[in-house]
Amino acid sequence: MPTEIKVLIAGAGIAGLASAIALRRLDTADVRFDIQLFDKATELREIGASIALSPNGLRTLERLGVDNALGDDVGFRGPSARPMIYHHWKTNEVVSADEFVDVPDRKHQTARFHRAHLHSALLAHVPGETIHLGKVVESAAVDDRGDDADGVTLLFKDGTSAKGDVLVGADGLRSKVRRAFVPEHTLHYTGRTWIRSTFDASLVDDIADLPSDSAHWWGPRYTFFASRLGKNMYTTVGNFDPDDFPAEREGGGGRQDKSVRWDQEGDVAFFRHLYRDWNPVVKALADATPHVRLYPNLAGEPLESWVFAKRVTLVGDAAHTHGGAHAAGGSLALDDAWALYRSLEHVLKATAVEQLKPKGGDDGGSGGGAGSKPKSLGASQLERAFTLYDKTRRPHTTRLVLSVLAAAEGNATTPGTDEQLRQKMINRPNMTWLTEHDVEATFARVLETENRQEREEKKNDHEYHDQVEKETKEHHVQVEEDGVAFDDIKDAIMDVPVVMVK
Ligand SMILES: Cc1cc2nc3c(=O)[nH]c(=O)nc-3n(C[C@H](O)[C@H](O)[C@H](O)COP(=O)(O)OP(=O)(O)OC[C@H]3O[C@@H](n4cnc5c(N)ncnc54)[C@H](O)[C@@H]3O)c2cc1C
Repeated sequence: MPTEIKVLIAGAGIAGLASAIALRRLDTADVRFDIQLFDKATELREIGASIALSPNGLRTLERLGVDNALGDDVGFRGPSARPMIYHHWKTNEVVSADEFVDVPDRKHQTARFHRAHLHSALLAHVPGETIHLGKVVESAAVDDRGDDADGVTLLFKDGTSAKGDVLVGADGLRSKVRRAFVPEHTLHYTGRTWIRSTFDASLVDDIADLPSDSAHWWGPRYTFFASRLGKNMYTTVGNFDPDDFPAEREGGGGRQDKSVRWDQEGDVAFFRHLYRDWNPVVKALADATPHVRLYPNLAGEPLESWVFAKRVTLVGDAAHTHGGAHAAGGSLALDDAWALYRSLEHVLKATAVEQLKPKGGDDGGSGGGAGSKPKSLGASQLERAFTLYDKTRRPHTTRLVLSVLAAAEGNATTPGTDEQLRQKMINRPNMTWLTEHDVEATFARVLETENRQEREEKKNDHEYHDQVEKETKEHHVQVEEDGVAFDDIKDAIMDVPVVMVK
């Protein structure tokens, strides 16, 4: 009978589903991962607007075997093979464009989806009976008395709870799992609210000069994004600062003020008002948009660790509160899931090897003898895996979160002249480090660093051991003369603590 490790995943969004798909690959003849997901939604219906996946996310989708999301029918890729083209708000001319650096395979080139289509593609790879809907996570707790303790508990609003060995918090930006372990973490409004819509592409068919690629128009204060999506859908996305639109002014805030809830229905007349002075293509797109929803943009400081009480970690927006900047959330969530899987896989293999040694593994191991099977991953091994995962992902996402927080500070700086706007567009930060990030290569580097440190520690151990041997031998004659056992002296010397210089 294989040993069972029960994994609780809070949240069945992109990060939660991708984690479930990835962690199922860990099953071996000896260890089975029982993965259960819990989501507050009462049904997984078509919700959300557009979502982009950049090359890093698409490569990970392929690694995960989610081939049903890689085709041009589900995700839209523009004919120019450029990830984004930047237009001037008033003249509509192309001012600049992003280019792929190293993405020769079309299926890895940036694709734009209706979020529900991407979500459904992932859902097809997760057994329905493992997803528990209508389960609103309130909090989480860990019994960390040791490896034989009960493990983790998820506490739900309906008074029920679930117990497991491992907890993965994938419950989004406002994560309750994160709050249970980092209660002091807060989210701030960045000063921007997104206005999004997705609708049937036939509504824009007749617009003259409509770009065939995904297009981003930049104005002095705001931007406008429009793109085809897979399955013949279309998206328009605007943004605004509620401070610019007090309710009493023309086109004013009203229901668009700072108190809006995430995914709240918006006022399409306000959306059209926002873009009324822009070029004819943008105006026509805003006029063709049938309805809008509002998404206030929130972000929070980077976390200092993603490892909590040895058995808990976070993935997706719960882990890095960048608040939707650079359309990076979906791809980051997929890479998180992959890195988590690779980290657990590495530690699982190392544990199995360890347990084949005569003395058996450490605390989570079977404790026993050649040929024994890995019984489970104990708290120490889980902590080791989550630390590898943290080292692979946290520095990368911290760079993004810090850049988002810095940019939010700078939101107030509006280009004073048209030339300044054009320079801002041309000199925008190059985000290839994010969009073409290689999670596999980063994981390999983290492992290499760990192995090097381990080798150095062992070398230091050996040098120290040799020194002890030498000293004990030097004293041997004297000790025997004094009638003290050789091993007692050796143990006494070995017991002296040593500070390793790494
Ligand atoms: C409904 C919805 C629509 C979205 N639409 C867009 C979009 O149009 N464009 C875009 O770029 N990004 C969108 N996002 C965000 C985007 O999906 C994420 O940035 C990215 O995919 C990372 O995914 P995630 O799984 O970490 O977070 P999310 O996609 O936010 O998923 C979190 C999941 O956890 C569940 N959850 C949250 N709180 C609890 C709780 N207390 N108890 C139980 N379950 C909980 C949610 O129902 C959700 O299924 C949307 C997210 C959601 C939830």
